Amino acid sequence: MSRTEKPCPRCEKPFQCNAADISNCQCFKVQISPKAQAFIAKRWQECLCNQCLKRVQFQLISADY
Ligand SMILES: [Zn+2]
Ligand SMILES: [Zn+2]
Repeated sequence: MSRTEKPCPRCEKPFQCNAADISNCQCFKVQISPKAQAFIAKRWQECLCNQCLKRVQFQLISADY
């Protein structure tokens, strides 16, 4: 069980990511659409922080992507 704080690849703000146990990672708890999930997975290899996840999803919605 490793819980690590790492910088968000998008905003560079440190956040808690638990990649070893993804269902306990905060990124997993943010409710994002499958579209946003696919977009994020394509663009970033790592998890984004909570704020960025929400922001990216909001951008996708407003761009009607
Ligand atoms: Zn971020
Ligand atoms: Zn994560």
